[in-house]
Amino acid sequence: MASPLDGIPQDKETVKNLDRAHVFHSWSAQGLIDPLPIASAQGSYFTDYDGNRYLDFSSQLVNVNIGYQHPRLIAAIAEYAQQATTISPAFANAARSEAARLISEVAPGDLNRIFFTNGGAEATENALRMAKLHTGRHKVFAAYRSYHGATAGAISMTGDPRRWGAEPAMPGIVHYWGPYPYRSTFHSSTPEEETERALQHLRDLIMVEGAQTVAAIILETVVGTNGVLVPPPGYLQGLRDICTEFGIVMIADEVMAGFGRCGEWFAVDHWGVTPDLITFAKGVNSGYIPLGGVLINDAIAATFDQRVYPGGLTYSGHPLACASAVASMNIFKDEGIIDNARRLGADVIGPELAKIADRHPSVGEVRGLGVFWAVELVRNRDTREPLVPYNAAGADAAPMNEFAAACKQRGMWPMTHFNRTHVVPPCTATEQEVREGLAILDEALEVADGYYAD
Ligand code: PLP
Repeated sequence: MASPLDGIPQDKETVKNLDRAHVFHSWSAQGLIDPLPIASAQGSYFTDYDGNRYLDFSSQLVNVNIGYQHPRLIAAIAEYAQQATTISPAFANAARSEAARLISEVAPGDLNRIFFTNGGAEATENALRMAKLHTGRHKVFAAYRSYHGATAGAISMTGDPRRWGAEPAMPGIVHYWGPYPYRSTFHSSTPEEETERALQHLRDLIMVEGAQTVAAIILETVVGTNGVLVPPPGYLQGLRDICTEFGIVMIADEVMAGFGRCGEWFAVDHWGVTPDLITFAKGVNSGYIPLGGVLINDAIAATFDQRVYPGGLTYSGHPLACASAVASMNIFKDEGIIDNARRLGADVIGPELAKIADRHPSVGEVRGLGVFWAVELVRNRDTREPLVPYNAAGADAAPMNEFAAACKQRGMWPMTHFNRTHVVPPCTATEQEVREGLAILDEALEVADGYYAD
């Protein structure tokens, strides 16, 4: 009997050749990449066509929070597909209604409504639009050390070099420096001083830009790709207070930090702060089907009660994506996945990375929480010169590439960015798996130590 999957190639060479001939990859010079064909994945591991198995310390793009091929999540998608594969956003749909209820139930404060999107960029794009229309103001403050997505507004808000190719960017975006005690823009010597100075910097910017022009301040609650920068004590509350004082919408981008990554439903829960809008994607359903959204508080929702919200998507609240979110939320609860992530951070990753830092001179700093950690690599601990320069490419990036290759050779897939490696396994990883990955990291860091200069 013919299989519904007939036509999907099963051998490595065909997969690779068709990819090279026809697939155009993100953020890449197409002729300089060699994408590894993946044959299968299970739990915390994926396997290539030669049978090499990798422990995934990247959770793909920090999104596979529930691990690969969770049977209950797969079953929910398959069963709901029998019921409703596609329904337009103009209708009410059971999976969408329940997903919205479940997500708003765990969100802080009065974030009671959800505008569903297909991913993170569309979420930050729509949060930006809502904030502008709600306040009648046109500027948005966004951090230099940030990534908010690749659509026009989202990439304009992005602070990292991925913005450069999209410039001139959308007008009205003002970039600011967030806190980063290890490399303080503010010459601070303590985290408390960093908080105070970073907040004063925001106040100064509001003064010179004009508070009445500023619609929103967007921040990644814990900055993700740009360094796993955990806000120092008091920063989030201070930013919340500034937003309230000046009538500015606080947007927490939790696309990467939310849904268990920080050992909480939302990273803001860690500090008890309630933003006006939260954007999410990735971990909400671990990318089994694309889904994102904006959580909206009552005041902003009320703006669009009698007035049309000028935005929409053919697939806003796609039934299959929402069914997978419902299943994922319930699995998280039933299997204690958030607690697992919190425990792994507190009892295993944090203590083990501290020991690794003691053993390797190239480790300048380790920081993080939950299953969201960065190991920052340096050539010298006193000068803190990064192991590779900011935005390093080609030969400049060689030390990090060699380090990554050493991890892969030993069966662990790392997530590297600039001079850092991030420890971001699935939230479902076991203690044993995490220890296995950290042991590989420990060995591979010999490569980085080789570049250390006293
Ligand atoms: N916001 C943050 C913090 C992210 O990390 C990302 C993706 O990495 C995005 C937004 C964009 O999400 P997407 O790639 O789903 O559009």
